[in-house]
Amino acid sequence: MVLERAGAPLVAADLPRPEPGPSELLLRVRACGVCRTDLHIVDGELAQPKLPLVLGHQIVGETEDGRRVGVPWLGWTCGACRFCASGRENLCDRARFTGYDLDGGYAEWAVADERYCFPVPDGFGDLEAAPLLCAGLIGYRALRLAGEAERLGLYGFGAAAHIVAQVARWQGRRVFAVTRAGDEQAQAFARSLGAEWAGAGPPPEELDAALVFAPVGELVPAALAAVGKGGTVVCAGIHMSAIPAFPYDRLWGERTLRSVANLTRRDGEEFLALAPRVPVRTHVETVPLERANEALATLRAGDVRGALVLVP
Ligand SMILES: [Zn+2]
Ligand SMILES: [Zn+2]
Repeated sequence: MVLERAGAPLVAADLPRPEPGPSELLLRVRACGVCRTDLHIVDGELAQPKLPLVLGHQIVGETEDGRRVGVPWLGWTCGACRFCASGRENLCDRARFTGYDLDGGYAEWAVADERYCFPVPDGFGDLEAAPLLCAGLIGYRALRLAGEAERLGLYGFGAAAHIVAQVARWQGRRVFAVTRAGDEQAQAFARSLGAEWAGAGPPPEELDAALVFAPVGELVPAALAAVGKGGTVVCAGIHMSAIPAFPYDRLWGERTLRSVANLTRRDGEEFLALAPRVPVRTHVETVPLERANEALATLRAGDVRGALVLVP
């Protein structure tokens, strides 16, 4: 399923089977998760995708020698810039991203640099593993950057939050889920995964940290207002609508506002080792690959409990 230009639906196409280059694996795609970032690319909110492009950066694939590997968003880094040299390859100046700079997994076949592939943990089916590769990884990185926060707010309860909630509970944190007004299904889903409160307004008590997963700038001042002194607000999405002006006292008191960008391979190794121990249970809805446009529309409408996964 090919994106030919921003703003247009994906088009089914017969492409030649990709040829793996040096250090690359040829993968038969077993499943590929659908991510909010895919929508931002389709909508032209991320300005410079390779075109035409095969989207998809949560790939569970099978190698020619029968191994199961996961391909995440981070597809290649230079290894030489000041970020790569200091353990921050997620910020690499020349990074290439799967399903953005490189063709991804909305396909039957894919190639990926083996150095950026992860072994898929046993105990996860192909479908269940796919959302670990971005929703899980980025969510985990966001959670880590929130520090030791005990009272954790999750703003937007989609694929990432439904995984983070399970990890946070397992770590002994308290979870508060903020959803869109009237989204009682999402609130019930959050409570079923361990949130002690779920609602649309401000949480009933002060938070120590908030992770903002919804791409809605208005949530940033709201989350800052909900965290106490010394608290942290982490914006976990790659794109967000403009953040409205807010009074300085929302930030005063050593509150921190930061973003999370991409992932490092270390994040992937840590999280994929942790996920079976929790154990994380991903909730997935599967969609046949050729109906990728419907999957994107479903995600846009917010009608998903957990994660959407395409299956060739
Ligand atoms: Zn670099
Ligand atoms: Zn993603």
